[in-house]
Amino acid sequence: MKVLVLNSGSSSIKYQLFDMRDESVLASGSIEQIGETGSHLSHRFRTPQGEMAKTVQALAIGDHRQGFELISSALRETGALADTGELMGIGHRVVHGGEKFKEPTRVTPEVLAAIRGLIPLAPLHNPANLLGMEVAMECAPSVPQVAVFDTAFHQSIPPHAYRYAIPKKLYEAHQVRRYGFHGTSHRYVAKKAAEFLKKPLDSLNLISLHLGNGASAAAIKRGKCIDTSMGLTPLEGLIMGTRCGDLDPAIIFYLERETGLAPKEIESILNKESGLKGICGANDMRTVGELAQAGNPEAQLAISMYCYRIKKYIGAYHAVLGGLDGLIFTGGIGENAEFIRAGCCKGLAHLGLEMDTEKNRRRQEGCAALEQGDSRVKILVIPTNEELEIAEQTVACLETEESGSTLCREKQ
Ligand code: AMP
Repeated sequence: MKVLVLNSGSSSIKYQLFDMRDESVLASGSIEQIGETGSHLSHRFRTPQGEMAKTVQALAIGDHRQGFELISSALRETGALADTGELMGIGHRVVHGGEKFKEPTRVTPEVLAAIRGLIPLAPLHNPANLLGMEVAMECAPSVPQVAVFDTAFHQSIPPHAYRYAIPKKLYEAHQVRRYGFHGTSHRYVAKKAAEFLKKPLDSLNLISLHLGNGASAAAIKRGKCIDTSMGLTPLEGLIMGTRCGDLDPAIIFYLERETGLAPKEIESILNKESGLKGICGANDMRTVGELAQAGNPEAQLAISMYCYRIKKYIGAYHAVLGGLDGLIFTGGIGENAEFIRAGCCKGLAHLGLEMDTEKNRRRQEGCAALEQGDSRVKILVIPTNEELEIAEQTVACLETEESGSTLCREKQ
Protein backbone atom coordinates (compact mmCIF):
# COMPACT_ATOMS: atom_id res chain seq x y z
CA MET A 1 0.00 0.00 0.00
CA LYS A 2 2.52 2.55 -1.23
CA VAL A 3 1.67 6.17 -1.96
CA LEU A 4 3.98 8.67 -3.63
CA VAL A 5 3.49 12.34 -2.75
CA LEU A 6 4.70 14.94 -5.23
CA ASN A 7 5.11 18.68 -4.71
CA SER A 8 6.02 20.17 -8.08
CA GLY A 9 7.43 23.67 -8.34
CA SER A 10 8.48 25.57 -11.44
CA SER A 11 12.05 24.21 -11.29
CA SER A 12 11.79 21.54 -8.61
CA ILE A 13 9.98 18.33 -7.63
CA LYS A 14 9.88 17.24 -3.99
CA TYR A 15 8.72 13.70 -3.25
CA GLN A 16 8.04 11.25 -0.43
CA LEU A 17 7.15 7.60 -0.72
CA PHE A 18 5.02 6.21 2.11
CA ASP A 19 4.08 2.72 3.13
CA MET A 20 0.55 3.53 4.28
CA ARG A 21 0.20 0.32 6.30
CA ASP A 22 2.25 1.99 9.04
CA GLU A 23 2.68 5.48 7.50
CA SER A 24 6.47 4.98 7.39
CA VAL A 25 8.60 6.92 4.91
CA LEU A 26 10.36 4.53 2.51
CA ALA A 27 12.18 7.23 0.56
CA SER A 28 12.12 10.97 0.01
CA GLY A 29 14.02 13.63 -1.82
CA SER A 30 13.99 16.46 -4.26
CA ILE A 31 15.06 17.45 -7.71
CA GLU A 32 16.18 21.06 -7.85
CA GLN A 33 17.11 23.52 -10.57
CA ILE A 34 15.35 21.67 -13.37
CA GLY A 35 16.39 23.13 -16.71
CA GLU A 36 19.33 24.97 -15.12
CA THR A 37 23.05 24.20 -14.99
CA GLY A 38 23.15 23.08 -11.34
CA SER A 39 20.31 20.54 -11.58
CA HIS A 40 20.59 17.66 -9.14
CA LEU A 41 18.73 14.84 -7.44
CA SER A 42 18.95 14.45 -3.70
CA HIS A 43 17.53 11.08 -2.59
CA ARG A 44 17.03 9.60 0.89
CA PHE A 45 16.13 5.95 1.25
CA ARG A 46 15.93 3.14 3.76
CA THR A 47 18.80 0.66 3.58
CA PRO A 48 18.21 -3.11 3.98
CA GLN A 49 19.47 -2.60 7.56
CA GLY A 50 16.61 -0.16 8.15
CA GLU A 51 18.73 2.99 8.37
CA MET A 52 18.21 6.11 6.26
CA ALA A 53 20.94 6.89 3.70
CA LYS A 54 21.31 9.81 1.31
CA THR A 55 22.76 10.27 -2.17
CA VAL A 56 23.17 13.48 -4.14
CA GLN A 57 23.69 13.26 -7.88
CA ALA A 58 24.49 16.21 -10.13
CA LEU A 59 22.63 15.43 -13.34
CA ALA A 60 21.49 17.35 -16.39
CA ILE A 61 17.72 17.43 -15.78
CA GLY A 62 16.12 19.24 -18.68
CA ASP A 63 12.44 19.08 -17.75
CA HIS A 64 9.88 17.71 -15.28
CA ARG A 65 9.32 14.56 -17.33
CA GLN A 66 12.98 13.65 -17.07
CA GLY A 67 12.82 14.57 -13.39
CA PHE A 68 9.92 12.16 -12.78
CA GLU A 69 11.75 9.37 -14.61
CA LEU A 70 14.86 9.96 -12.49
CA ILE A 71 12.80 9.81 -9.30
CA SER A 72 11.24 6.50 -10.46
CA SER A 73 14.72 5.08 -11.21
CA ALA A 74 16.10 6.24 -7.86
CA LEU A 75 13.14 4.60 -6.06
CA ARG A 76 13.69 1.40 -8.06
CA GLU A 77 17.46 1.26 -7.67
CA THR A 78 17.32 1.80 -3.91
CA GLY A 79 14.70 -0.94 -3.50
CA ALA A 80 11.89 1.38 -2.34
CA LEU A 81 9.60 0.63 -5.28
CA ALA A 82 9.87 -2.21 -7.79
CA ASP A 83 7.81 -0.34 -10.36
CA THR A 84 5.36 2.58 -10.43
CA GLY A 85 2.65 -0.07 -10.96
CA GLU A 86 3.17 -0.97 -7.30
CA LEU A 87 1.75 2.40 -6.24
CA MET A 88 -1.75 2.61 -4.82
CA GLY A 89 -1.79 6.23 -5.88
CA ILE A 90 0.13 9.44 -6.39
CA GLY A 91 -0.94 12.44 -4.30
CA HIS A 92 -0.17 15.88 -5.68
CA ARG A 93 0.03 19.11 -3.71
CA VAL A 94 -1.99 21.76 -5.53
CA VAL A 95 -1.86 25.27 -4.15
CA HIS A 96 -5.13 26.76 -5.35
CA GLY A 97 -8.43 24.95 -5.69
CA GLY A 98 -10.57 28.09 -5.76
CA GLU A 99 -14.19 27.54 -4.70
CA LYS A 100 -14.46 24.45 -6.86
CA PHE A 101 -12.36 21.99 -4.91
CA LYS A 102 -13.41 21.37 -1.33
CA GLU A 103 -12.00 17.83 -1.04
CA PRO A 104 -9.10 15.77 -2.40
CA THR A 105 -10.03 14.95 -5.97
CA ARG A 106 -9.14 12.17 -8.39
CA VAL A 107 -7.26 13.78 -11.30
CA THR A 108 -9.00 13.52 -14.67
CA PRO A 109 -8.64 15.63 -17.82
CA GLU A 110 -11.65 17.70 -16.62
CA VAL A 111 -10.03 18.28 -13.24
CA LEU A 112 -6.80 19.37 -14.93
CA ALA A 113 -8.80 21.82 -17.05
CA ALA A 114 -10.52 23.21 -13.93
CA ILE A 115 -7.18 23.66 -12.15
CA ARG A 116 -5.86 25.38 -15.27
CA GLY A 117 -8.83 27.74 -15.07
CA LEU A 118 -7.65 28.77 -11.59
CA ILE A 119 -4.20 29.89 -12.80
CA PRO A 120 -5.09 33.61 -12.54
CA LEU A 121 -5.58 33.07 -8.78
CA ALA A 122 -2.20 31.32 -8.35
CA PRO A 123 -0.08 32.23 -11.38
CA LEU A 124 3.19 31.10 -9.79
CA HIS A 125 2.06 27.80 -8.31
CA ASN A 126 -0.82 26.19 -10.21
CA PRO A 127 1.06 25.93 -13.56
CA ALA A 128 3.92 24.02 -11.89
CA ASN A 129 1.48 21.79 -9.96
CA LEU A 130 -0.33 21.05 -13.24
CA LEU A 131 2.90 20.19 -14.98
CA GLY A 132 3.73 17.70 -12.22
CA MET A 133 0.32 16.01 -12.58
CA GLU A 134 0.51 15.85 -16.37
CA VAL A 135 3.99 14.33 -16.33
CA ALA A 136 3.06 11.79 -13.63
CA MET A 137 -0.05 10.78 -15.59
CA GLU A 138 2.02 10.33 -18.75
CA CYS A 139 4.79 8.35 -17.05
CA ALA A 140 2.56 6.26 -14.78
CA PRO A 141 -0.77 6.07 -16.67
CA SER A 142 -2.15 3.13 -14.71
CA VAL A 143 -1.62 4.78 -11.28
CA PRO A 144 -4.56 6.79 -9.85
CA GLN A 145 -3.61 10.39 -9.21
CA VAL A 146 -5.21 12.60 -6.56
CA ALA A 147 -5.00 16.38 -6.23
CA VAL A 148 -4.89 17.68 -2.64
CA PHE A 149 -5.50 21.42 -2.37
CA ASP A 150 -3.90 23.89 0.06
CA THR A 151 -7.13 25.88 0.03
CA ALA A 152 -9.60 23.01 0.60
CA PHE A 153 -9.62 22.98 4.42
CA HIS A 154 -10.66 26.64 4.41
CA GLN A 155 -13.68 26.09 2.18
CA SER A 156 -15.86 25.73 5.30
CA ILE A 157 -15.28 29.44 6.11
CA PRO A 158 -18.65 31.25 6.00
CA PRO A 159 -19.29 34.20 3.65
CA HIS A 160 -19.15 36.81 6.44
CA ALA A 161 -15.51 35.78 6.94
CA TYR A 162 -14.45 35.08 3.36
CA ARG A 163 -15.99 38.06 1.56
CA TYR A 164 -14.13 41.38 1.31
CA ALA A 165 -16.14 44.59 1.67
CA ILE A 166 -15.69 45.56 -1.97
CA PRO A 167 -18.27 45.65 -4.79
CA LYS A 168 -20.10 42.34 -5.14
CA LYS A 169 -19.37 42.17 -8.86
CA LEU A 170 -15.63 41.81 -8.15
CA TYR A 171 -16.43 38.65 -6.23
CA GLU A 172 -18.85 37.37 -8.84
CA ALA A 173 -16.79 38.19 -11.93
CA HIS A 174 -13.26 37.77 -10.55
CA GLN A 175 -13.67 35.47 -7.53
CA VAL A 176 -12.10 38.05 -5.21
CA ARG A 177 -12.54 36.54 -1.73
CA ARG A 178 -10.54 34.97 1.08
CA TYR A 179 -9.32 31.46 0.22
CA GLY A 180 -6.51 30.88 2.72
CA PHE A 181 -3.54 28.54 2.33
CA HIS A 182 -1.52 26.02 4.39
CA GLY A 183 -4.84 24.15 4.72
CA THR A 184 -3.16 20.74 4.60
CA SER A 185 -0.95 21.70 7.54
CA HIS A 186 -3.77 23.28 9.59
CA ARG A 187 -5.92 20.18 9.05
CA TYR A 188 -3.09 17.82 9.98
CA VAL A 189 -2.10 19.58 13.21
CA ALA A 190 -5.74 19.99 14.28
CA LYS A 191 -6.24 16.20 13.89
CA LYS A 192 -3.01 15.49 15.76
CA ALA A 193 -3.96 17.93 18.54
CA ALA A 194 -7.26 16.05 19.02
CA GLU A 195 -5.35 12.74 19.18
CA PHE A 196 -2.85 14.24 21.62
CA LEU A 197 -5.63 15.61 23.84
CA LYS A 198 -7.57 12.34 23.48
CA LYS A 199 -10.73 14.22 22.50
CA PRO A 200 -12.84 14.10 19.34
CA LEU A 201 -11.83 16.85 16.91
CA ASP A 202 -15.44 17.92 16.52
CA SER A 203 -15.58 18.73 20.23
CA LEU A 204 -12.65 21.17 20.13
CA ASN A 205 -12.17 24.87 19.38
CA LEU A 206 -8.61 25.46 18.22
CA ILE A 207 -6.40 28.22 16.88
CA SER A 208 -3.60 26.86 14.77
CA LEU A 209 -0.52 28.94 13.98
CA HIS A 210 1.54 27.69 11.05
CA LEU A 211 4.73 29.73 11.42
CA GLY A 212 7.30 28.94 8.75
CA ASN A 213 8.76 31.06 5.97
CA GLY A 214 5.14 31.67 5.10
CA ALA A 215 2.83 32.03 8.11
CA SER A 216 -0.89 31.81 8.72
CA ALA A 217 -3.41 31.38 11.51
CA ALA A 218 -6.64 29.39 11.36
CA ALA A 219 -9.69 29.46 13.64
CA ILE A 220 -11.07 25.92 13.88
CA LYS A 221 -14.49 25.46 15.49
CA ARG A 222 -15.44 21.88 16.30
CA GLY A 223 -13.02 20.62 13.66
CA LYS A 224 -14.10 22.99 10.88
CA CYS A 225 -12.16 26.03 9.76
CA ILE A 226 -14.19 29.21 10.24
CA ASP A 227 -11.52 31.81 9.45
CA THR A 228 -7.93 32.11 8.36
CA SER A 229 -5.42 34.93 8.02
CA MET A 230 -4.24 34.48 4.41
CA GLY A 231 -6.62 35.83 1.81
CA LEU A 232 -7.01 35.84 -1.95
CA THR A 233 -3.25 35.29 -1.96
CA PRO A 234 -0.73 34.27 0.73
CA LEU A 235 0.25 37.93 1.23
CA GLU A 236 -2.43 38.81 3.80
CA GLY A 237 -2.32 38.22 7.53
CA LEU A 238 0.69 37.51 9.73
CA ILE A 239 4.16 38.98 9.25
CA MET A 240 6.27 36.45 7.34
CA GLY A 241 9.91 35.99 6.32
CA THR A 242 9.65 38.36 3.35
CA ARG A 243 5.87 39.05 3.07
CA CYS A 244 4.28 42.04 4.76
CA GLY A 245 0.98 40.46 5.87
CA ASP A 246 -1.86 42.87 6.72
CA LEU A 247 -1.45 46.31 5.21
CA ASP A 248 -3.55 49.38 4.52
CA PRO A 249 -4.36 48.83 0.80
CA ALA A 250 -4.00 52.57 0.20
CA ILE A 251 -0.25 52.21 0.85
CA ILE A 252 0.07 50.65 -2.60
CA PHE A 253 -1.48 53.66 -4.35
CA TYR A 254 0.46 56.06 -2.17
CA LEU A 255 3.73 54.33 -3.09
CA GLU A 256 2.81 54.31 -6.75
CA ARG A 257 2.18 58.07 -6.63
CA GLU A 258 5.13 59.03 -4.47
CA THR A 259 7.86 56.72 -5.81
CA GLY A 260 6.78 56.11 -9.40
CA LEU A 261 7.19 52.37 -8.82
CA ALA A 262 5.11 50.14 -11.12
CA PRO A 263 2.44 47.86 -9.53
CA LYS A 264 4.60 44.81 -10.33
CA GLU A 265 7.56 46.35 -8.50
CA ILE A 266 5.42 47.14 -5.46
CA GLU A 267 4.02 43.60 -5.57
CA SER A 268 7.56 42.26 -5.55
CA ILE A 269 8.55 44.52 -2.59
CA LEU A 270 5.54 43.36 -0.56
CA ASN A 271 6.21 39.68 -1.31
CA LYS A 272 9.99 39.49 -1.36
CA GLU A 273 11.46 42.47 0.49
CA SER A 274 9.06 42.96 3.37
CA GLY A 275 8.17 41.02 6.53
CA LEU A 276 11.10 40.25 8.84
CA LYS A 277 13.52 41.04 6.02
CA GLY A 278 11.99 44.46 5.48
CA ILE A 279 12.07 45.33 9.17
CA CYS A 280 15.55 44.10 10.11
CA GLY A 281 17.30 42.83 6.97
CA ALA A 282 17.12 39.10 7.84
CA ASN A 283 14.27 36.75 6.91
CA ASP A 284 15.47 33.62 8.72
CA MET A 285 14.09 33.61 12.26
CA ARG A 286 17.28 31.98 13.59
CA THR A 287 19.31 34.96 12.37
CA VAL A 288 16.69 37.43 13.61
CA GLY A 289 16.81 35.77 17.04
CA GLU A 290 20.62 35.91 17.17
CA LEU A 291 20.67 39.56 16.12
CA ALA A 292 18.05 40.44 18.73
CA GLN A 293 20.00 38.57 21.40
CA ALA A 294 23.10 40.58 20.45
CA GLY A 295 21.15 43.78 21.05
CA ASN A 296 20.20 44.76 17.49
CA PRO A 297 17.17 47.07 17.94
CA GLU A 298 15.74 46.40 14.46
CA ALA A 299 15.74 42.64 15.05
CA GLN A 300 14.14 43.22 18.47
CA LEU A 301 11.46 45.35 16.81
CA ALA A 302 10.91 42.66 14.14
CA ILE A 303 10.27 40.06 16.85
CA SER A 304 7.94 42.40 18.78
CA MET A 305 5.97 43.17 15.61
CA TYR A 306 5.85 39.50 14.61
CA CYS A 307 4.45 38.41 18.00
CA TYR A 308 2.13 41.41 18.32
CA ARG A 309 0.47 40.61 14.99
CA ILE A 310 -0.04 37.01 16.07
CA LYS A 311 -1.51 38.11 19.41
CA LYS A 312 -4.05 40.28 17.58
CA TYR A 313 -5.15 37.24 15.59
CA ILE A 314 -5.33 35.07 18.71
CA GLY A 315 -7.60 37.70 20.29
CA ALA A 316 -9.80 37.99 17.21
CA TYR A 317 -10.14 34.24 16.72
CA HIS A 318 -10.73 33.68 20.44
CA ALA A 319 -13.67 36.08 20.11
CA VAL A 320 -15.21 34.48 17.02
CA LEU A 321 -14.70 30.91 18.27
CA GLY A 322 -16.61 31.73 21.43
CA GLY A 323 -14.15 29.88 23.64
CA LEU A 324 -10.83 28.18 23.05
CA ASP A 325 -9.55 24.71 23.97
CA GLY A 326 -6.12 24.79 22.37
CA LEU A 327 -3.54 27.00 20.68
CA ILE A 328 -1.28 25.07 18.29
CA PHE A 329 2.20 26.12 17.19
CA THR A 330 3.63 24.47 14.08
CA GLY A 331 6.01 25.12 11.14
CA GLY A 332 9.77 25.74 11.37
CA ILE A 333 9.35 28.75 13.67
CA GLY A 334 6.35 27.48 15.66
CA GLU A 335 8.10 24.17 16.34
CA ASN A 336 11.57 25.51 17.10
CA ALA A 337 11.59 29.16 18.19
CA GLU A 338 10.73 29.15 21.90
CA PHE A 339 11.19 32.94 22.12
CA ILE A 340 8.45 33.41 19.50
CA ARG A 341 6.06 31.01 21.27
CA ALA A 342 6.74 32.86 24.53
CA GLY A 343 6.25 36.27 22.89
CA CYS A 344 2.92 35.23 21.33
CA CYS A 345 1.48 33.96 24.63
CA LYS A 346 2.83 36.71 26.90
CA GLY A 347 0.07 38.68 28.60
CA LEU A 348 -2.76 36.41 27.44
CA ALA A 349 -3.63 34.94 30.85
CA HIS A 350 -6.96 36.83 30.68
CA LEU A 351 -7.82 34.59 27.69
CA GLY A 352 -6.89 31.47 29.65
CA LEU A 353 -3.48 31.06 27.99
CA GLU A 354 -0.74 30.57 30.56
CA MET A 355 2.53 29.19 29.31
CA ASP A 356 4.92 27.20 31.48
CA THR A 357 8.24 28.88 30.67
CA GLU A 358 10.28 25.81 31.61
CA LYS A 359 8.20 23.44 29.46
CA ASN A 360 8.50 25.89 26.57
CA ARG A 361 12.27 26.13 26.98
CA ARG A 362 12.80 22.37 27.40
CA ARG A 363 10.50 21.22 24.61
CA GLN A 364 12.34 18.86 22.24
CA GLU A 365 11.02 16.53 19.51
CA GLY A 366 7.40 15.60 18.88
CA CYS A 367 4.08 16.86 20.22
CA ALA A 368 4.17 18.69 23.53
CA ALA A 369 1.87 20.59 25.90
CA LEU A 370 3.42 23.83 27.18
CA GLU A 371 0.70 25.30 29.38
CA GLN A 372 0.80 25.61 33.14
CA GLY A 373 -1.19 23.01 35.03
CA ASP A 374 -4.08 25.38 35.71
CA SER A 375 -4.18 27.08 32.29
CA ARG A 376 -7.73 26.88 30.85
CA VAL A 377 -6.37 26.62 27.31
CA LYS A 378 -3.85 24.03 26.14
CA ILE A 379 -0.76 25.41 24.43
CA LEU A 380 0.56 22.78 22.05
CA VAL A 381 3.50 22.28 19.74
CA ILE A 382 2.52 19.83 17.00
CA PRO A 383 5.10 19.13 14.27
CA THR A 384 3.39 19.42 10.92
CA ASN A 385 3.62 16.77 8.19
CA GLU A 386 1.95 18.02 5.03
CA GLU A 387 3.26 15.12 2.93
CA LEU A 388 1.74 12.52 5.24
CA GLU A 389 -1.56 14.44 5.24
CA ILE A 390 -1.53 14.43 1.41
CA ALA A 391 -0.82 10.68 1.43
CA GLU A 392 -3.67 10.08 3.91
CA GLN A 393 -6.07 12.16 1.87
CA THR A 394 -5.01 10.34 -1.30
CA VAL A 395 -5.82 7.00 0.31
CA ALA A 396 -9.13 8.33 1.68
CA CYS A 397 -10.16 9.67 -1.74
CA LEU A 398 -9.29 6.44 -3.54
CA GLU A 399 -10.97 4.25 -0.91
CA THR A 400 -14.12 6.36 -1.06
CA GLU A 401 -14.15 6.01 -4.82
CA GLU A 402 -13.53 2.28 -4.64
CA SER A 403 -16.30 1.77 -2.12
CA GLY A 404 -18.69 2.88 -4.84
CA SER A 405 -19.37 6.35 -3.51
CA THR A 406 -19.12 9.15 -6.02
CA LEU A 407 -17.80 11.60 -3.41
CA CYS A 408 -14.45 12.16 -5.12
CA ARG A 409 -16.00 12.81 -8.49
CA GLU A 410 -18.96 14.83 -7.28
CA LYS A 411 -16.81 17.22 -5.31
CA GLN A 412 -14.90 18.30 -8.44
P1 AMP B 1 9.50 26.26 7.31
O1 AMP B 1 9.07 27.17 6.19
O2 AMP B 1 8.38 25.65 8.05
O3 AMP B 1 10.56 25.28 6.92
O4 AMP B 1 10.21 27.22 8.40
C1 AMP B 1 11.33 28.00 8.09
C2 AMP B 1 11.57 28.98 9.23
O5 AMP B 1 11.78 28.26 10.45
C3 AMP B 1 12.80 29.85 9.02
O6 AMP B 1 12.51 31.20 9.31
C4 AMP B 1 13.76 29.31 10.04
O7 AMP B 1 14.61 30.28 10.52
C5 AMP B 1 12.84 28.89 11.15
N1 AMP B 1 13.50 27.99 12.07
C6 AMP B 1 13.91 26.73 11.88
N2 AMP B 1 14.56 26.25 12.97
C7 AMP B 1 14.57 27.27 13.87
C8 AMP B 1 15.10 27.43 15.19
N3 AMP B 1 15.75 26.44 15.82
N4 AMP B 1 14.92 28.63 15.80
C9 AMP B 1 14.30 29.64 15.19
N5 AMP B 1 13.77 29.55 13.96
C10 AMP B 1 13.92 28.39 13.31
